[in-house]
Amino acid sequence: MDFNDTPEEAAFRKEAYDWLSANAEELAPGKKRRGSLTEADDALVRESKAWQAKKADARWACITWPEEFGGRGASSIQNVIFNQEEAKFDVPPNVFSIGQGMLAPTIMAHGTDEQKQKYIEPILRADQVWCQLFSEPAAGSDLAGLRTTAVKDGDDWIVNGQKIWTTGAHFSDYGMVVTRTDPTAKKHAGITYFIVDMKSPGIDIRPIHQINGSKDFNEVFFSDVRIPDANRVGAVNDGWRGAITTLMNERAAIGAGGGGGVGMADLLRLARETQWGDRPALEDASVRARIADFYWKLKGLEYTGYRALTSLSRGQTPGPENSIGKMVGAPLRQEMAAFAMELQGAAGATADPDVTFGRAGFQGAWLGAPGLRLAGGTDEILHNILAERVLGLPGEPRIDKDLAFQDVPTGGVR
Ligand SMILES: Cc1cc2nc3c(=O)[nH]c(=O)nc-3n(C[C@H](O)[C@H](O)[C@H](O)COP(=O)(O)OP(=O)(O)OC[C@H]3O[C@@H](n4cnc5c(N)ncnc54)[C@H](O)[C@@H]3O)c2cc1C
Repeated sequence: MDFNDTPEEAAFRKEAYDWLSANAEELAPGKKRRGSLTEADDALVRESKAWQAKKADARWACITWPEEFGGRGASSIQNVIFNQEEAKFDVPPNVFSIGQGMLAPTIMAHGTDEQKQKYIEPILRADQVWCQLFSEPAAGSDLAGLRTTAVKDGDDWIVNGQKIWTTGAHFSDYGMVVTRTDPTAKKHAGITYFIVDMKSPGIDIRPIHQINGSKDFNEVFFSDVRIPDANRVGAVNDGWRGAITTLMNERAAIGAGGGGGVGMADLLRLARETQWGDRPALEDASVRARIADFYWKLKGLEYTGYRALTSLSRGQTPGPENSIGKMVGAPLRQEMAAFAMELQGAAGATADPDVTFGRAGFQGAWLGAPGLRLAGGTDEILHNILAERVLGLPGEPRIDKDLAFQDVPTGGVR
């Protein structure tokens, strides 16, 4: 493991920092960046678009993309370095990460030349916002169980069904949708992947109100929606290949990201400022023991993160063990937030930012944590990945593996 930049990495870091300091304001110590996708509103989307266009003009947007698509052909470690430097500046959050991180790479790998021409540059510049229409009410972890259908009609496909948990559908211009096109084939085989214009007639987007007050994802209903065959990505019934490309990019993007939001510095400040009787809570042995427990787990995550960075720096791809970051990090952040709310006593039960420590940051983190433990692979799915692909334990029984999709037992649900 090597924690230091190579001379080339240090030079790249300086180049990135110099550009950022000439174009954005550096955050004061302890100050956090504004907003997040969960708070995305029109103004934030506009600000985020303007920052993205500025980066694109200077070729600092999507730097790992090949030069022909507007990137720099940068390495993954250079991307990490740029993101680390950008995090020091007060810039708007990137609300285009689904299009840029997951969907554009799928179009690059499986799209036609026309699709690449038409969509890649607007995604890079954030002129267009994209969403991912994969999950369905009965197809999440088991995405290949999807039931939204597409039936060929002349040069178009007619799509019917329902998607759910579609982040940003309400402000997206386009989406990538996976559909069932051959129910007589095995479940991974009869799937076709399309680009859909989110303003198409027959699309009904209904926001889902979340426990934390946000409405950042949606139910999306398709009723006889026409998608031109020219929008098909990959061959008919071969959409699983594209779906895997999208999901691999999603995993890589989430990677070691165990959560953000709640940090050790915030927790220590709270424990110092909270009075228990005539002394700070931090002086209580039980509080110190809990905080120490969180600390060593966070350190473990930090060093596991360095291991992934070291392999990127050596030109390798981090393996499935990279799932540890989210598998351990998301529940840990949830526990830390819950503990911080306990420390606040009765005030811990309110999320009013005007009366609560740290503008209710811990409450927000706690309310958002269940979503973090589901999105991009649930805790249990990550355990399965580690068990099967890292520890070599026997795989789960997959009883539907050799059946045609239409013959998979559903308990009567169709
Ligand atoms: C914040 C957020 C944003 C999201 N954004 C999007 C988006 O933009 N587009 C999109 O398409 N989807 C999105 N999703 C959906 C996400 O991909 C799914 O929630 C996820 O794949 C899990 O699917 P599910 O919710 O249907 O749960 P299910 O798959 O039904 O799982 C239910 C429970 O059963 C467990 N389980 C399932 N299978 C197994 C197994 N084989 N072994 C052991 N346990 C199992 C799960 O771990 C879970 O606890 C988002 C979700 C969240 C929380």
